[in-house]
Amino acid sequence: MHLLNQQTSEQYVTHMQKTSAVIKQWLDDNNVYLGGTPQQVQATNTFSIREQGRDIDTILADIQSKFLPSCVSTANANCLAHLHPPTLVIGQIAEMIIAATNQSMDSWNQSPAATYIEKDLIHWLCQRCGFDDISGVLFDEWTGHNAGGVFTSGGTQSNLMGLLLARNQFYKAKGVDVQKDGLVGQPVGAILCSDQAHFSIEKNAALLGLGQKSVIKVATDASGAMLMSDLQHQINRLGADNVMAIIATAGTTDLGAIDPLMAIGKICHDAQIWLHVDAAWGGALLLSQRYRHLIEGLNQADSITLDFHKHFFLPISCGAFLLRDNRNFESIRHHSEYLNSADDEQDNIPNLVTYSLQTTRRFDALKLWMALDLLGTDDYGALIDSCLDTAKQAAKLIDANENFVLVHEPIISSVLFYFAPKDTALSDNQLAQLNRHIAQELLVNNIANVATTQFKQCLCLKFTILNPNTQINDIADIIEQMAITGFKQLNSDDLNVDGKK
Ligand SMILES: *Cc1c(COP(=O)(O)O)cnc(C)c1O
Repeated sequence: MHLLNQQTSEQYVTHMQKTSAVIKQWLDDNNVYLGGTPQQVQATNTFSIREQGRDIDTILADIQSKFLPSCVSTANANCLAHLHPPTLVIGQIAEMIIAATNQSMDSWNQSPAATYIEKDLIHWLCQRCGFDDISGVLFDEWTGHNAGGVFTSGGTQSNLMGLLLARNQFYKAKGVDVQKDGLVGQPVGAILCSDQAHFSIEKNAALLGLGQKSVIKVATDASGAMLMSDLQHQINRLGADNVMAIIATAGTTDLGAIDPLMAIGKICHDAQIWLHVDAAWGGALLLSQRYRHLIEGLNQADSITLDFHKHFFLPISCGAFLLRDNRNFESIRHHSEYLNSADDEQDNIPNLVTYSLQTTRRFDALKLWMALDLLGTDDYGALIDSCLDTAKQAAKLIDANENFVLVHEPIISSVLFYFAPKDTALSDNQLAQLNRHIAQELLVNNIANVATTQFKQCLCLKFTILNPNTQINDIADIIEQMAITGFKQLNSDDLNVDGKK
């Protein structure tokens, strides 16, 4: 009676409508966050498991009164903390279909049409990344030897796949089958990435048995992009033969810095080193009309991370891993009679389990498919570009304000800055404390969700503008509120300024 089937189809519509109404009210209220302090939000959202269940109306009433106000609303224009966007309604519609159909991407007979849709989309993404410029023809059949890929749970998993395949390839070249024999006793190759690269590189290196120490951080310039001189120096120091992979970042998480992909690609090509490009954020520029050139050289990669639950405005989770030569998937192929039997494969029945680290897997590709269908690449690109434009305007405002310091011009759509009141001598520590306080106060008081982060030696406030509805007026209001909060704190006794308690 509670399952989705023919008998419950009427109720299904009623319940979905009620749910939509609850969500509509939450959207209309348009708060940033009403949950209060961590203690308050925890107390509001306690839950007791009962022997008897409750009816949907009661449950939805609780969701409405307790859970939703305790959410940070990504739909609100002042929610600017992380790479955490409002979602396209078409993406939510797709989520309804994904949940209702519950296709699983691990075998064709659990996802017949979905398998082909995902494959088509991967094909298109490979083209969009420019893999066909390099390999000539793109793969035509799923057994083909050209570009390929798979949808993933996000950037962390895509980065793991890149490192995994690079690792397998590195040892294969030395005559070692790591998948089978493991790593014990083998010399560990180095992984080079910038000091601004995502933390998942180190986490994944540890997962792969390489150890975090195998990750060597290359120095970056003032814009957070990898310094080629230091990259070359590190390769010379280690010996190119001992470098397992270079991870370039196209859009670092904080500053949006883009490593020089062309130059890194050339080094990797000449030295036969695997290049993985983490384009979890910058990959969105694939659709940009005005900023596409910033990721020039993406097609030099052996493998690429893309994330659609960031600057593509799709619900979590939705990411992809792309591979220039899909023969490299062979190293992780497993045969299981119930999913990808040899008979099926001979009959050319596709399965995607071979390409994924997951077994049961969501049909996340539908979200991107439907979003592209609705918007077309032009309007999709324009939405992405509008965020970059707002970031540039925001930086101008901050730069013109004597009580704030702009740390760097925006590259994609993050703005790093901090409150440093004019004519007030504060230590780095005090500034950090003050700026942290500002971010906390703005959230707890339902004004804005802004992040703090460390860039180089500096504790910064961060706007990550991933909401096309955020206007420059919204930004101006937030900056004003930041100054009010900052000055109030300065004048209170809580901040230890100039020996004052
Ligand atoms: C967000 C991000 C990741 C991690 O992706 P998830 O989808 O959160 O797993 C990796 N790399 C970069 C550059 C990112 O910005």
